[in-house]
Amino acid sequence: MSGPCLGLRRACVLLSVTAAALLLLLLPRARPPAAPRRRPPPAAAPGPSPPAAGPRGGGSGAAGRRGGQWRGRLARSPPAPRGGGPAGEGLELEDIFIAVKTTRKYHRSRLDLLLQTWISRARGQTFIFTDWEDRELRLKAGDHMINTNCSAVHTRQALCCKMSVEYDKFLESGQKWFCHVDDDNYVNPRTLLRLLSAFSHSQDVYVGRPSLDHPIEAADHVQSDGSTTVKFWFATGGAGFCISRGLALKMSPWASLGNFISTAERVRLPDDCTIGYIIEGLLEVKLLHSPLFHSHLENLQRLQGESVLQQVTLSYGDPENKHNVVSVGGVFGLQQDPTRFKSVHCLLYPDTIWCPTKKIS
Ligand code: UDP
Ligand code: MN
Repeated sequence: MSGPCLGLRRACVLLSVTAAALLLLLLPRARPPAAPRRRPPPAAAPGPSPPAAGPRGGGSGAAGRRGGQWRGRLARSPPAPRGGGPAGEGLELEDIFIAVKTTRKYHRSRLDLLLQTWISRARGQTFIFTDWEDRELRLKAGDHMINTNCSAVHTRQALCCKMSVEYDKFLESGQKWFCHVDDDNYVNPRTLLRLLSAFSHSQDVYVGRPSLDHPIEAADHVQSDGSTTVKFWFATGGAGFCISRGLALKMSPWASLGNFISTAERVRLPDDCTIGYIIEGLLEVKLLHSPLFHSHLENLQRLQGESVLQQVTLSYGDPENKHNVVSVGGVFGLQQDPTRFKSVHCLLYPDTIWCPTKKIS
């Protein structure tokens, strides 16, 4: 073979190697789940555990107030978005995965209201996790209704089963943020976006509201044989919480592909506490305490007027406590809108077709 021809082939080889390297660099950064730094991966067999925290703040934690536990607390309003800055990024609503946990018996009484209100403004990023193949809901939500096949009971196992599917679906989605809410939460998509825009999804971020004023303490059956305890904060699932993708990937050894269920079993904790245990207890990442998330465990009547519209999530009291709702006037009366979600929605999105064009007093 002549010299110039060989030279040409070399040039071609060089060119294709460079192109391949460039292509590799351009590929989306699909990071493998980060290996835990110091913690051993979860073992399969759950060990015996003493009774631990009951759901949503009925925690057995004997913990008292701990100095400095409010570090990481967020100011009343989230910092302004710093698009493209070192921490903030140009976040879009499409970057957020919102998981709504529901169950068969609440499809009509709770979920329809959400579909009519906030979900209609965040349809693309909202997924409904339920336990029953409901044709009517399937028609409304399409493949955004996910039948988890978890059992339709209010047990720790069934709830953890749903959280486990939520987590796996989020990882699969490739989106930047995972937010979990219950079917009695109103989510304000605008303030949610504003809050998360202040961070980078590749940072370790766990943000939400604790239901207790102290960390819970649980026997540690993951890092030890249960003879030691671990104290940690958790964001109550009833107010909703968000986790950045960077942090969610680090949770993978204890949370992905069914590991969440075995982690929860080993520590005998409900779903939201187990999330806190993995993040604060195992990964040593602090919960950012935000007053912008709300559950019906708090006095919602304290939220009044304009400030209602600035929150990230809202909720309403159960039938025994139906007066525990946010105070918004001027749209619908209490009879027409007992949860106040319709009124809030019309104040936020007055162009909604079913909203009154003129305010009533
Ligand atoms: N839930 C569920 N399965 C059940 C009962 C409740 O998935 O058997 C869900 C429900 O749809 C809601 C969340 O769990 O999203 C909390 O339920 P609820 O508001 O009834 O109770 P809470 O814990 O807030 O008092
Ligand atoms: Mn509830």
